Amino acid sequence: MHQLNHQPELENMVDKIHPKKRYIFASDFDQTLSFNDSGYVLAELLGIPEAEFERKATGMAKLNLVQQGGELAYLLLHDPEFRKVRKEHLYEAGKRVRLKPNIDALYRFLSEELEDYHFDFYVISAGPVEVIRSALEGIIPADHIYGTEFEYNSKGEIERILHVTAGYGKVTVIDELLEQLKTGPDRIVYVGDGSSDIHVMLPVNRRDGFTIAVSKNKYLAPIAKRSVISDSALSVLIPILEDVVGWQPPSIRELFEAKGLLIQQWDKVQTDVLTIVPSTAPVEEHVSIALTD
Ligand SMILES: [Mg+2]
Repeated sequence: MHQLNHQPELENMVDKIHPKKRYIFASDFDQTLSFNDSGYVLAELLGIPEAEFERKATGMAKLNLVQQGGELAYLLLHDPEFRKVRKEHLYEAGKRVRLKPNIDALYRFLSEELEDYHFDFYVISAGPVEVIRSALEGIIPADHIYGTEFEYNSKGEIERILHVTAGYGKVTVIDELLEQLKTGPDRIVYVGDGSSDIHVMLPVNRRDGFTIAVSKNKYLAPIAKRSVISDSALSVLIPILEDVVGWQPPSIRELFEAKGLLIQQWDKVQTDVLTIVPSTAPVEEHVSIALTD
């Protein structure tokens, strides 16, 4: 009995002698933790046809006026139809987002269940923060979710953008987290699916962090250190356990089985995507390319 009382103290001591390795796990939201872009969900809620939203968003993207991923924020501030949006719409859109399964299991595992590692789980999205917090309510604490923030006027209308967490805006959040948690840039794991994640993956890689692509995006996949394609949010555990924690595939399979999940198919493929066309360039040019290469 006496000894039991001292257990927490003992654990504290063990923790001091043998502390857990602390990492930041930062994840994109749209199409990384969910299946569809929240912009589409919001457009549907407002009765804006999908094709029209697509036209507006891609038109914005082509202008390169805002950071990739920040198109919705711009539309919310300037587009007559999106100007109707109030906080309630953003909250409701969040509830309609289709989440990938097992986000809760991923969160619990990374923050609690590993013996020697602790991952602080953060979501960094270009989407409106209200949408993401609503979608992940009860799964991820609101203060672990970063998104684009707006200022509202007394009528509840969006008055201005406070900051957009797209592209380089995500790097700023990561830098703030590093400062706040007093940890090094080699202790970051960043997960994303789209071209707008390139801007954050490049500096994470350069500073010895770890990056995972969860799509076949042709710009992102070659930059990310690992790619994993699956409908389950828990799949990102595979590259983390293999490359960061150092587990072998049999232990990973066992872990999934202990969680009542079966890895049905695990194909390791490295894809080289090539376009080969008949050469029309003069022979001399070929020679000079070969020499300088
Ligand atoms: Mg995304």
